[in-house]
Parts: sequence; C-alpha cells; structure tokens
Amino acid sequence: GKIIYNGELKTRSDVKVDIEDRGYQFGDGIYEVIRVYNGEVFASNMHVNRLMDSAKMIQLKVPLTVAEIEALVKELIAEDKLRNGIVYMQLTRGVCSRTHAFPINEVEPVFVAYTKEMPYTGKVKPGVKGVTTDDIRWLRCNIKSLNLLGNILAKQQAVEASCDEAIQHRDGKVTEGSSSNVAIMVNGTLKTHPATNLILNGITRQVMLKLCADNDIPYVEEAFTVEEMMAADEVLYTSTSVEVTPIINIDGQSIANGEPGPITKSLQKLFSEEIERQCGA
Ligand code: PMP
Repeated sequence: GKIIYNGELKTRSDVKVDIEDRGYQFGDGIYEVIRVYNGEVFASNMHVNRLMDSAKMIQLKVPLTVAEIEALVKELIAEDKLRNGIVYMQLTRGVCSRTHAFPINEVEPVFVAYTKEMPYTGKVKPGVKGVTTDDIRWLRCNIKSLNLLGNILAKQQAVEASCDEAIQHRDGKVTEGSSSNVAIMVNGTLKTHPATNLILNGITRQVMLKLCADNDIPYVEEAFTVEEMMAADEVLYTSTSVEVTPIINIDGQSIANGEPGPITKSLQKLFSEEIERQCGA
C-alpha cells in the first residue's frame, strides 16, 4: 500500500522511521483519526483543524496547510481505493540528537498518513459494557498527543474486565473514555463534560451536540459524578470509530433496565443520517 510521507505518496516499505525521531523516542507529536464512509471523508475539515490546534498547543509548526492535508488525504483514499475505513495521520517534531528540549536548529517535522479498512454496516450498534477507573493522565488532555500511556493503561483495564471501554473520572467527576467521550441522559437532557483541558473535544461529540441542537434534544456541557452516571436513564459514548454507542452496564451494574435508551437510539439514527448526508453512505 501507499502512505503519505512529508507531503508525498510513497510505498510503505520504502519509508523508514529514524531511531531518533522525537515521536518514537518521546511521543513528541500529535495525531488524528478520520473516518471514511463510501470513499468520502467524514468531518474532514474539523479533524484537520483539530490537528492544527493540537500542533499549535505544542509549538509544532505544521509543514502543510489544511487544504494541502485534505487534498493529500483524498489522494491517498483514491490511491488505496478505500471505501470504508479510517485515515490515521501523525506529525512528530522530527529527527535530532536526543535531548528533552526542542531542537535548537531548524528540524523538519515528520508527517505520515495511511489508511486502514473498517467496515460500516449502517446498523445501529447494540449496547456495550464499561468499567470505571481513575483518570491518571496529565492536565492537557485537550491536545491529541501521541503520548497515550494513561489511555492505554485504562483501556487495558477494560479489556481485562471483559468490557469495551474504560470510563475515567477525576475528583469524582467523569472526564471521558480511554478513547472516547461519555454522555448521560437524565430526565431527557443530555449531559457531557465541558470541552476543557481535562478532555479531548471529540469531533463525534461536537457533531452529536449539533444534532441535539438541531433536533430539540436539550443538552448541557457540565461534568457529572460517577454516582449520577450510575443512576442515569441512559449512558452513551462517542468516537470516530464507535460513532454513538449505548453503554448499558458499568462495573457489572445495569444502567436503568440494561437496554439501550430511546434518546440514545434517536441520536444513533440522527448520526447515521448525518453520515449519509456527508458521505452518501
Ligand atoms: N477522547 C479521547 C481520549 C480519544 O482518544 C478520542 C478518540 N480519538 C475521543 C475522545 C473521541 O474523539 P473523536 O470523536 O474526535 O474521535
């Protein structure tokens, strides 16, 4: 297959990572995951803009413009003949002799992107299980950083508990999943953590909130406690790969009657209509 390497399409096996790439050594870089449905990119501009924002927050100069990145992604999808899947892209601070501080001399950042197939059935996803865990991560979770050790340890806990996602909390308040955002439904109002430094402001989260606004589903961006979540009418999580999915059991306890709730189901339907609208899938 082909990949994008610093603005050019290359054969994957021709590209080598330097052992002193700062992404490889320090996780000094940022990334994005973009969904492709029916050969079309979903929320392309929002994702590439978030990549730019993340880059700015770590003082990383992006060697490409938003339009150039979007065009390269399209070229890659066409080259790979990708119908349904994802594009993974990352940007690292580049290659230089190992030292913590930024390189003194101008170093070219390293940009790579490649595709991966992921089926899309268009069917509503059934409910999954979650497990709660302490949020042990740093205080800049709004940056889509390559440093994912906290998230990895949380997800591993979920896997070991035979669950699909780890729901992290800090000082008793739910922040987000290990690779997703979490929302609850209480008395017909959706509640989700505000887009602060404590969470990644998910694109799926933003699209869902827009769908709420457009369809008279009340919502508030307010943190909620683990207790509130356990007693909620509905719990759901969102991400580029899971879209909108109900969480029906947490820490072995059913949420409400243990079935996906009606508002979550409406949001799943609205989200698939949005996919259809943007991608014709
Ligand atoms: N939070 C974290 C920590 C994530 O890794 C992700 C997935 N990238 C999300 C939230 C959801 O973001 P998005 O909807 O943009 O995929």
